[in-house]
Amino acid sequence: MLDCIFCKIVNSQIPSKKIYEDEELLAFHDIHPIARVHFMIIPKIHVDSLERCTAIHQPLLGKMLLLAPKLAKEQGLVNGFRTMINTGHGGGQEVYHLHVHVFGGDASMPRT
Ligand code: 5GP
Ligand code: ZN
Repeated sequence: MLDCIFCKIVNSQIPSKKIYEDEELLAFHDIHPIARVHFMIIPKIHVDSLERCTAIHQPLLGKMLLLAPKLAKEQGLVNGFRTMINTGHGGGQEVYHLHVHVFGGDASMPRT
């Protein structure tokens, strides 16, 4: 996707603070963190959102979620963390390239 910010990050056309990369996934710090630690896990292939996922994406989604606790721990979130997948306009999604937010590390976290 030519105009997708996250595809540009995948292709190193836009810089990012990467914390993890493999053949399918990339993780990097959010440019506007909402917690002391805030990063995102994205697939390298372009998928608009969770709504656009099908059974084909099931292994990829599983891999993204299983990576979250591993990276959270590496980033110092030893007491837990929050995950968030904003989906579509109603879900507050701003960047239409599937991503899982992982954040935490502050003294208190609101319940919602
Ligand atoms: P959404 O609302 O789509 O779930 O979240 C998109 C996130 O991407 C926002 O938290 C925003 O701060 C982050 N973001 C937008 N543009 C960039 C960028 O160029 N680099 C990084 N690292 N994060 C970005
Ligand atoms: Zn993209």
